[in-house]
Amino acid sequence: MTMMTAAKRSSDQTPTCQSVALHSVTYEIRTFGDPVLKAIAEPVTNIDEKLVRLTDEMFDVMYKAPGIGLAATQIGVQRQVFVYDIEEERKVILNPQIVESSGEWVYDEGCLSIPGLYVEMLRPKRILVRGINLDGNQVEFEADELLARLFQHEVDHLNGVLMFDRMTPDQRREAVTLYRAREGQPKDAEPYHLKLV
Ligand SMILES: [Zn+2]
Repeated sequence: MTMMTAAKRSSDQTPTCQSVALHSVTYEIRTFGDPVLKAIAEPVTNIDEKLVRLTDEMFDVMYKAPGIGLAATQIGVQRQVFVYDIEEERKVILNPQIVESSGEWVYDEGCLSIPGLYVEMLRPKRILVRGINLDGNQVEFEADELLARLFQHEVDHLNGVLMFDRMTPDQRREAVTLYRAREGQPKDAEPYHLKLV
């Protein structure tokens, strides 16, 4: 997931390629239209060195983008893994599930796989997410507002769901049209915003 402040920071930096080459694997952020974004990720059953390396690489890709959250499916890896960093809180969650949600909150949501488009969407305000950390222990996080939004956005990715899938057919048509229009513009052009609420 991206937020406006993160996106703004990027325009102050030297333009960089959106891929990171490490350990001979090159991961690129897959964007809307790539079928991997529609696939449902497989649960993680084995936490090994390879998985730890994958999460390190996911952080590198996420920071470089820059974003605040990244799901493995966004770099073409069909595993239930996401990483995030909000206010220096660098975390990895495996096999995440949203077990409770309540309230409503509107937020101008961005996605690294839908660059240049922010969508003001309504979703639950508070959630309880359950998953596993890299030590293999079950973890539970209560989250509110931005963190809750991030968790919902990333869990959606692991289920093959994009922001476009949370729209009515009319909204989706408008959103895709805007996205396509923005695609033809320079990467550092101002993003488009769509209000659904
Ligand atoms: Zn996203």
